[in-house]
Amino acid sequence: MSKNKPLASLSLDLDNLWSYMKTHGDQGWESFPSYLDIVVPRVLDFLDKRGLKITFFIVGQDAALEKNHKAIRAIADAGHEIGNHSFNHEPWLHLYSEQQIEDDLARTEQLIESLTGQKPVGFRGPGYSLSETVLRILAQRGYKYDASTLPTFLGPLARAYYFMTTKLSPEEREFRKQLFGKLSDGFKPIRLYQRKIDGYDNGLVEIPVTTMPFFRIPFHVSYILYIYRLSPLLAKTYFRMAIWLCRITGTSPSLLMHPLDFLGSEDIKELSFFPAMNLSSKRKLQLLNDVLNIYSSHFTIVTLCQHASGLSQEENYL
Ligand SMILES: [Zn+2]
Repeated sequence: MSKNKPLASLSLDLDNLWSYMKTHGDQGWESFPSYLDIVVPRVLDFLDKRGLKITFFIVGQDAALEKNHKAIRAIADAGHEIGNHSFNHEPWLHLYSEQQIEDDLARTEQLIESLTGQKPVGFRGPGYSLSETVLRILAQRGYKYDASTLPTFLGPLARAYYFMTTKLSPEEREFRKQLFGKLSDGFKPIRLYQRKIDGYDNGLVEIPVTTMPFFRIPFHVSYILYIYRLSPLLAKTYFRMAIWLCRITGTSPSLLMHPLDFLGSEDIKELSFFPAMNLSSKRKLQLLNDVLNIYSSHFTIVTLCQHASGLSQEENYL
């Protein structure tokens, strides 16, 4: 690791097949179909070859099922950080009562800890859902950071596209009306900052999923893949531009990946509604390789926990 390169973090939200089906309103999710046994070894192998340690956000419901235990343990055994991604992966977490939020977080923590030996210190809300209550409970439970914000104006557009592909009832849509965030999210900070929480001295470090400086458009891997389908050259140029803007503005980015960035059309049939699911895993891995080469040539890649610790040494308080 070069000391000259600034810090940047990398995470993967381990959203499972059933959670995509559930949010999308598809039948069959109730048996919690899983692709963790396919995708986790692939991701671990990819990271191991590059010597990277990252943060995996795990859903409690997955940790509760025996069929996923081997895959989840393998992540921790490989030295990666495990974060809490809620128990039910419901993007309407912000509508839960205080007690429901508390129970959800505690249950997930216990399952993760008993399975991996790691007590999560970081949280990412499903579908970027967040509320003051969630933040307060995180501080109360001793969390170090939250990573649930996506500062972009494009959230409502992504949601509209998503709704177009579903057959959800008006009531089901109502629950999902904050999926991918609000328009005002575009004004939130894109840099790490210390969040003050009333009554808690330490507060929480907020690690936004970094969007492109000035333009506030996403550049996480799923988004790059979406552009890659239109033009491979454009996708790489776009990512290079995002990284270059981070460098010149002194923004220390946090990049996000998803299992579907590693899974091709040959792996799963159920998610054909999803953008970029018509690409093979081979092509996706090639793009991921290029993206991470660019990322690591500019930054020292660390886990989100290490990234949060890096901030506490700087004066970047809001
Ligand atoms: Zn998720």
